Amino acid sequence: MTAPEPGLVYVVGHRRPDTDSICAAIGYAALRQALGDPHVRAARAGELNPESRWVLERFGLPEPELLTCARGLRLILVDHNEVAQALDDIEQAEILEVWEHHRIGDLHTARPILFHCEPVGATATLIAEQYLLQEVPIPAPIAGGLLAAILSDTLVLASPTTCGKDRRMAARLAALAGAGIEELGAALMAARGAVASLTPAELIDSDCKHFEFSGRRVGVAQVELPDAGVLMDRREALVTELEARCQSGQLDLLVLMVTDIRRRGSHFWAAGPAREHLGRVLGQEVHPANGLWAEGWMSRKKQLVPAMEAVFSVVA
Ligand code: MN
Ligand code: MN
Repeated sequence: MTAPEPGLVYVVGHRRPDTDSICAAIGYAALRQALGDPHVRAARAGELNPESRWVLERFGLPEPELLTCARGLRLILVDHNEVAQALDDIEQAEILEVWEHHRIGDLHTARPILFHCEPVGATATLIAEQYLLQEVPIPAPIAGGLLAAILSDTLVLASPTTCGKDRRMAARLAALAGAGIEELGAALMAARGAVASLTPAELIDSDCKHFEFSGRRVGVAQVELPDAGVLMDRREALVTELEARCQSGQLDLLVLMVTDIRRRGSHFWAAGPAREHLGRVLGQEVHPANGLWAEGWMSRKKQLVPAMEAVFSVVA
C-alpha cells in the first residue's frame, strides 16, 4: 500500500464498504476529474466484499486506493456521516464535502461545507444525478458501477427506501452501461449469496454498523440474501457469535438482521442485556435460539434504526 498523498483529495465511503460506498466514490472522483480537478481520487475504507469485487470486474473499474486512517487527509465522504462508521481519526481529517442518504450523524467540521443528504435509495443515485446536472457524459463503466450500487442498496429496487429518482437514474444508467436491470440485479444477488459460506464472524462483520441510542451501545449487522433460509441451519453458531461479540465489545445490544429478498421480510437474532428492546421494536418476542421473523422489515436505515431510536429514548 502506498502512503496517501497530502496534496490529494480522497473520496471515501464507510468502513466495511459495500458496493454503494465503493462505486459512489469511484463515480464522484471521476466526475470531479472530468470537471478539471485531477487531485481527486477514489478511495475505500476497507476490503472489498465479494459483490463489489464482482462489480468492479464486470465493468472493468479499478479498485479504489485503501485508506486505513484519516489523520491529516482531505476527504469527501460518501454514503456515511457518522464517526463510528468512518475511518479512524476522522476528527483529524479535513472534510470537504458529504454525499449521503442516511440519517444525519455526529460529524463536525470547522468550516462550512457542501453537505448533500437526501433520502434516496443509494448515494449512487445522487452521484448519477450530479453528472446530469453538470452535463458531464457518464462513461459506460462508471454507469455500470453506479447502477450496480443502486441495485445493491435497494435490493433491485424492491426495498422500501427506493424512490422515483432511484428508478429514473437506474433506467438511464442501464441504457448507458448496456446492462439489463433484472439481469444485473440477479447476478449481483447471486454474487452476494456466497455469504452463506462465510463463518459466523465473517458474516456479522460483512455489514455491521454501530450506533448509540440514548447512551446505549448498539450494533446492527445486516445480511441480505435471495433466500435467508440458507442460514437457518447455522442459527446456533450465529447466536453464539453474537453473544461473544456483545461481551467483548461491551455492547448493550447486538442485532443480526437477515433480510430475505424474495419473502420481503427479515429474520432477526439478538444478544446483549438490552435484547428485549428489540422485541418491543418489532412487536414480537425474540426467541433466544430461533429469533423472530418480521414481515415487511427490509431496511436497517429507514425502518429498524429509527424504530430502535424511538424505543430506546423511552426505555433507556
Ligand atoms: Mn453503504
Ligand atoms: Mn448507501
